[in-house]
Amino acid sequence: MRKVNFFQSIHLKFVLIYVLLIALAMQIIGVYFVRELEDTLLENFKTSIEDRMSPLEYSITEEIKADLAGERSDDEPSLQESIQVLLGGLNSEDIEEVRIIDARNRVLGTSDDNNQPVVGQRMNNELLQRMFIEGGPPPNSLNETYVDRETGERMWVLAMPLIEGSDVIGAIHVESRIENVYSQMDQINGILAGGTAISLVITAILGVLLAQTITRPIADMRSHAVDMAKGNFSRKVKVYGHDEIGQLAITFNNLTKRLQEARVTTEAEKRKLSSVLSYMTDGVIATDRRGRVILINDPAAAMLSVSRETVLSMSLPELLGIEDEYSFEDLSSQNESLILNFGTQAKPYILRCNFSAIQKETGFVSGLIAVLHDITEQEKIDAERREFVANVSHELRTPLTTMRSYLEALAEGAWEDEEIAPQFLHTTQTETERMIRLVNDLLQLSKMDSRDYRLNKDWVNFIAFYQRIIDRFDMGRSQNVSFKVKLPKEPVYAEIDTDKMTQVLDNIISNALKYSPEGGQIGFKVELKEREKEMVISVSDQGVGIPRENLKNIFERFYRVDKARTRQLGGTGLGLAIAKEMITAHGGQVWASSVEGRGTTIYFTLPYDPESEDEWA
Ligand code: ADP
Repeated sequence: MRKVNFFQSIHLKFVLIYVLLIALAMQIIGVYFVRELEDTLLENFKTSIEDRMSPLEYSITEEIKADLAGERSDDEPSLQESIQVLLGGLNSEDIEEVRIIDARNRVLGTSDDNNQPVVGQRMNNELLQRMFIEGGPPPNSLNETYVDRETGERMWVLAMPLIEGSDVIGAIHVESRIENVYSQMDQINGILAGGTAISLVITAILGVLLAQTITRPIADMRSHAVDMAKGNFSRKVKVYGHDEIGQLAITFNNLTKRLQEARVTTEAEKRKLSSVLSYMTDGVIATDRRGRVILINDPAAAMLSVSRETVLSMSLPELLGIEDEYSFEDLSSQNESLILNFGTQAKPYILRCNFSAIQKETGFVSGLIAVLHDITEQEKIDAERREFVANVSHELRTPLTTMRSYLEALAEGAWEDEEIAPQFLHTTQTETERMIRLVNDLLQLSKMDSRDYRLNKDWVNFIAFYQRIIDRFDMGRSQNVSFKVKLPKEPVYAEIDTDKMTQVLDNIISNALKYSPEGGQIGFKVELKEREKEMVISVSDQGVGIPRENLKNIFERFYRVDKARTRQLGGTGLGLAIAKEMITAHGGQVWASSVEGRGTTIYFTLPYDPESEDEWA
């Protein structure tokens, strides 16, 4: 946030406004006052001059009248002398000179002692001429203001006619110093200007203080708002009063509270959303309106094996690797899910992708949500199921076709042939048995696949149990095969379903016998791994062996290494698959190792209880 420059601050503006308003007010008052005062002073000045001239006017008129009437005796002073007496002492600060003029423009007397020579001379004065000529009858007094050329001062001149009846018998000409009034006005103006300046200074200082009461809360709120923008909601604005600014501060504080609450809610929602997104097993990707990735959760990043940082702001079609077939617009209108195959021959990997556009009420697409779902496992199960059905049909069809051809041959007359008939019947019988075995195995598998499949477990001494099974095979065997048995001496207790475990061992041992050559040896071994609390049971033969690449497949359903040969041996291809299911149900593992042509060993583990030895003993 930029700091407010003093010259742009509201503080300065307040002070300026104050000062300008005061200056303007003073100006208006000043102009009005000065003008009125000047008028009054000038008026007063003129009236005072005129007032002082009135008695003079009367006495001089009387003197001139007497002189004209010839009533003046010799011992009396002459007209000029008596006028001089009347004018004596008239000069003052205001009056420059008073002259008396007779009707023929001759100066009869002057109040200026230094200017006595003008007495008796004619006076050519324009104002007097105007008064005599234009003024009457009877003429009025005239006046005018002029600026003295020598001193530069303003002078006010008054010409008053002296009237007897209807005749003008003379005039009084007064020059007065009106400049005094103007200089007085100048003084007053000066005082006024000084007052204005002082009042401006005082208001400016007051303005600064007053403006502070307004600007301080505002500045406070401003810095608070800056803090708020940075996410600090803990501060409160101080409320200085209950005026509009105080109300604003209260509202501001309320707003802060609301904002904080809203923020807390948003944060909580955000956290909820992000934990939902990250704990989801489905991948979620969100884009902006141009299809750039703005959000991707961990499962989605893991599914696409990308890192979150690198894909943000990448385009969605590009991220999914479908930019050649689909544009972002296609995806936003895509209603069905897309199947994306990222797998290779060795490692299948299939994703299903659903899209949903985030639309505003106006229909404007503001983003897209893509949900990714790993369907590899499901696809695998589907494929397995299809394969299983195909296998079962195939396995059943082979013996059935064989049987049909044999039965047809018998029906067509072979039954009469004493040599062939028993042979054919024997074959149909073995095929039927094989089918029964197959169906039984299938039933067994389907039982184990069903959810409520339970083992019927008992604690038994596994060594004794195993020994009994080996003995049974030892007694019943028809081939020339020797047994090499290496079992622990002490009893080993394990919790097993004896029926199922018998089936497992039967299968493994009979396989070993089946594939053993004449004179071969079968090894039986049980190793105890005390630390892991498990034993490793192994059955090894010296038979044909299994090619390395087929080793891990032999536990799959219907898998046979050499199809023709094993079918001859009566195998269904399900024995090891069933054994694996059962061992897994017991908490063990099964695997095989083999060297082709040298023999095979089938291993499996079973958990046992190392401590219980003593108790049972
Ligand atoms: P089958 O009933 O056909 O024997 P299994 O599931 O028991 O079915 O065995 C699957 C396949 O594993 C057999 O067809 C055979 O090819 C191979 N196999 C199993 N045990 C041995 C062994 N001891 N020696 C050689 N091959 C074996």
